[in-house]
Amino acid sequence: MLADRLKTLAPSSTLAVQAKAKALRAQGIDVISFGAGEPDFDTPERIKEAAVQAMRRGHTKYTEVAGIPELRAAVCAKFKRDNGLAYEPADVLVSCGAKHTLFNMVTALLNPGDEVLVPSPYWVSYPEQARLVGGVPVAVETAEATGFDLDPERLRAAVTPRTKAVILNSPNNPTGAVFSPEALRSVAGLAVEKKLLVVSDECYEALTFEGRHVSIASFGPEIKARTLVINTCSKAYAMTGWRIGYAAGPRELIRAMTDVQSQMTSNPSSIAQWAALEALAGPQDDVAKMAGEFDRRRRLIVGGLNALPGVRCVTPKGAFYAFPNVSGLFGKRVKGMDTPLRGSVDVGAFLLEQARVAVVPGVDFGSDAHVRLSYATSDTLISEGLARMGAAIRELL
Ligand code: PMP
Ligand code: GLU
Repeated sequence: MLADRLKTLAPSSTLAVQAKAKALRAQGIDVISFGAGEPDFDTPERIKEAAVQAMRRGHTKYTEVAGIPELRAAVCAKFKRDNGLAYEPADVLVSCGAKHTLFNMVTALLNPGDEVLVPSPYWVSYPEQARLVGGVPVAVETAEATGFDLDPERLRAAVTPRTKAVILNSPNNPTGAVFSPEALRSVAGLAVEKKLLVVSDECYEALTFEGRHVSIASFGPEIKARTLVINTCSKAYAMTGWRIGYAAGPRELIRAMTDVQSQMTSNPSSIAQWAALEALAGPQDDVAKMAGEFDRRRRLIVGGLNALPGVRCVTPKGAFYAFPNVSGLFGKRVKGMDTPLRGSVDVGAFLLEQARVAVVPGVDFGSDAHVRLSYATSDTLISEGLARMGAAIRELL
């Protein structure tokens, strides 16, 4: 009955882990979840109030497909303020979360067989979205030894006549890497030389703890003209449920993505758009406060992970994920079981069953030697989760 494209579609594993932990909790099983890639903070009050006011003022109808002009103007001001990038509202598209922005992009850009370079480890949705429209995602490894920094030479070697785009994500989900300006500059040169589109997913920009976030589009007019910069209100403003993401880039592409959106969702929620306007244009102090908190938790979880036997973890520089290497546990067995742990799915299942801790298997991000933990949760739960993991790991044979 279903379309062939569904034969290869993997549902989002990040969301699946989150759902599983929630379901177990509903059964009364005490699971600590490091699955959810979303801030545990509530949306700041000023933003909620803007939504209430929007409803009261009757902003409850369809809006312009690309987003209300006020919000697109605020997006332009944000890009100028934070990234030194000049755009006009006609260069901007607001969508139902950055995930939807990305889907508009692959739909508007890729012909069947077109290749997209995806530095690996990667966020789970990039390859799946490309495949859904017949594109071919090409994973290009980054090395743990460099803190998973972008590898321009490997990217260059992966370019073929079918390569259309490269998707960059810094700060990175799942590794926490903040790509070095040198590597970004080099990839900018490659993109201009090979006429590739750069999709720069900067959703975790506000959560950069080491180094400085630099948008690749800011390296000059040539690279800016072939970069789609993507961001979201989800992470910086704890607004995952409001579903507002946005992009700015080449006008032809933005127009095409807007046409796709016009046939798919019409527009993002009018009320959420007014809230997003307040998020981007209002006082930014709550962003720094949340970022400071995540930075503290980062140290707590990375220290704790590195103290576990068989586990080593590169220190993430941004976002709110730790991506420890757990290959030191492979070959070990749970008491009473015949088969040893063989990969990240086994380690995930072991941690859920024996430690009541939920993590996302690294294989879904392109590396079977790792698992991902979101530390967007309280100190108490981080400490308790680490203690449970330690106890379970020490029981392994
Ligand atoms: N990009 C990355 C790297 C992400 O981790 C996420 C997940 N939140 C998104 C994009 C999409 O975020 P949203 O759709 O909530 O804006
Ligand atoms: N981006 C978050 C994550 O990676 C939220 C879930 C999702 O959209 O995949 O966990």
